[in-house]
Amino acid sequence: MQTSTFVDDWLCYNTILGEGAYGEVKLLIHKKSQEKIACKIIDHHKYKDASAAINREVTIHKLLDHENIIKYFGRRQEPLKEYIFLEYAAGGELFQLIEPDVGMPPANTQMYMKQLLCGVSYLHSKGIAHRDIKPENLLISIDGILKISDFGMATLFRFKGRERLLDKKCGTKPYLAPEVLQRPYKAPAADLWSCGIVFVAMMTGELPWAEATDKNEEFLKWKNDIYISETPWAKLGNTALSLARQILNVDSMRRLKLEQIERHPWMRLEFSFVISGNPLIRSTENSSDSSEDGSEKPAKRWNSMVEAETRMNRDTPTVTQSQPTISHRHSTIMEAVDSLRNTRRDQVCFSQPTQNEDLVLQFTQSPITKDNFQDLIKRLTRFYVKTGLEKTLEVLCTVLDSLHYGWTTDANGAVSVTTVDSCKNQLTFKANLFDMDGKILLDFRLSKGCGLQFKKKFLKLKECLSDIIDNKDVKI
Ligand code: ATP
Ligand code: MG
Repeated sequence: MQTSTFVDDWLCYNTILGEGAYGEVKLLIHKKSQEKIACKIIDHHKYKDASAAINREVTIHKLLDHENIIKYFGRRQEPLKEYIFLEYAAGGELFQLIEPDVGMPPANTQMYMKQLLCGVSYLHSKGIAHRDIKPENLLISIDGILKISDFGMATLFRFKGRERLLDKKCGTKPYLAPEVLQRPYKAPAADLWSCGIVFVAMMTGELPWAEATDKNEEFLKWKNDIYISETPWAKLGNTALSLARQILNVDSMRRLKLEQIERHPWMRLEFSFVISGNPLIRSTENSSDSSEDGSEKPAKRWNSMVEAETRMNRDTPTVTQSQPTISHRHSTIMEAVDSLRNTRRDQVCFSQPTQNEDLVLQFTQSPITKDNFQDLIKRLTRFYVKTGLEKTLEVLCTVLDSLHYGWTTDANGAVSVTTVDSCKNQLTFKANLFDMDGKILLDFRLSKGCGLQFKKKFLKLKECLSDIIDNKDVKI
């Protein structure tokens, strides 16, 4: 698609799909064709150092054309703002599909692993390393296909057949291969290590360590082969564990190559699916786990784990995590409710029409309703409540206070929550209240931090808000 196509007739919903290092990502819909694309809006005024980084990202991204990679359509540069147009992934981020401490059905893990490896194989064939593979950067299309996104850290490691070692330490700590922290390192093996961590996250709902260094106890145990009875490894069947061991081989020279991962017995197990999008195991009869000792089948294990987890969630009283409150709090609950009352909330607030005649984007004035809400990213981190707008905000803020989370509201009543995760890293997420024809939908979206940790916090909040949740209306 040419950049010129982006003249007129594109409506931009002001609802934010996601937040990036240099700005926001919004949804554009073509007035006539209804085609949907994502638009990364970079604010050069706010982020003075964005230009060089964005240029690098675009230079690499525009070379790519593959089913498992988000397509780059074009860019528009203005003095203070820049727009990058991308294929829209309506299924959200991969971490949404990972149940904390449980994971997802092995069949789904296998399907996403195959798609991830397909995309990574294409990238490496082009001499490009991604360097930030993690569930937050793996998006899901409307048809449930995994798409690698975010080329902000990508680089060329092979040019005209000559490969170079990399020595820039970049990426996200829990996903970084040990050699990346020591440097220099071989790019393809480092990307595959990150895929290995994604594999463990999908299978178990956990990240094995905060960083792959000798300072980290969990990593040291893994390195020294004294991990087997511990979580997350104890949750893997033998075949899956054998795959994890060979991808997460600390010796990058002995780590499985991409084609070897694809040929590993676990990748060839046969699972059956029920529904696309959120496939569940139909039966375990067809799954032939070729584990060395004939151990329990993964699908069966997953089902029993879910049952155990559900039991545990039901039986365990909510314990407030003692976390330091980050002083981010600008409003009291009553101030927040008052400001909501005084704001004319079209529930989603839309930008002003542009003054610049030339501007490609025309902003829609129509509010999000039940009908067009389906255009927005499908998320599992949202639910309907029985309470009205003000009461919901009041209850939400009270719960946030009781959990010692810092929070602040913006002019539209969206609540920004800041806390720290169990690894003491900052975690920020947004809660938006949507008035859907009189029913309030409470939607949580990660802003900054680890997706799995965010989902954990979401589940805790959901439990605390169970009195106001409307379980009847499940169609979201
Ligand atoms: P960071 O460095 O924090 O990862 P970034 O500037 O590289 O941020 P992205 O990761 O590309 O930004 O995008 C931020 C978020 O926006 C994503 O995690 C995702 O939720 C959403 N997003 C990005 N691109 C798309 C897309 N094509 N379709 C739907 N949502 C998207
Ligand atoms: Mg990202």
